[in-house]
Amino acid sequence: MAYKRHISMKTNNVDYFLIADYQRLKQVLLNLINNAIKYNKPNGFVETTCDLISNVADGSGDWVRINITDSGKGIAEENLYKVFEPFERVGAEITEIEGSGLGLSIVKKLVDAMGGKVGVASELGKGTTFWLELPLADNPANQIQQHEFISGKINAPSQKVG
Ligand code: ATP
Ligand code: MG
Repeated sequence: MAYKRHISMKTNNVDYFLIADYQRLKQVLLNLINNAIKYNKPNGFVETTCDLISNVADGSGDWVRINITDSGKGIAEENLYKVFEPFERVGAEITEIEGSGLGLSIVKKLVDAMGGKVGVASELGKGTTFWLELPLADNPANQIQQHEFISGKINAPSQKVG
């Protein structure tokens, strides 16, 4: 997709160990990277970085921060609060760019279920950064949330697993 649109992809190539649902994490990252390419301009870039945040001060443990930054058209400040709402396309519905407005609402739901946080910062005409923070494997926030995740609450709320 990036190759077809002449978008260059960059990454800082680091590895951290997370305990997460591989398919769901992949779904989150693909949605964000797909948007970063789709709402970019020709010859633009998408940069994905991964960093460790050691939040010793507030005792919330270690987190992995993933930033997905693009050089696209950006999102107006007054629309930023809406982008994670289902079916919200914040103006893209009047363009030729296709979508159902569901990707980011799914991302938000999955990241919440993983015990993580997701957010966005943007500057019109310059680009957008979507960020994720996920608890590192030994962070208690991870263990509590992962238990709920693995026990099936996210996939089938009414179904008892195990
Ligand atoms: P789909 O359900 O196929 O993902 P979509 O891409 O329109 O459709 P979302 O991924 O939820 O839906 O994004 C919601 C809206 O937020 C988009 O329609 C677009 O207007 C805006 N948006 C999302 N990502 C970006 C981005 N990286 N740059 C600029 N606008 C964006
Ligand atoms: Mg999308």
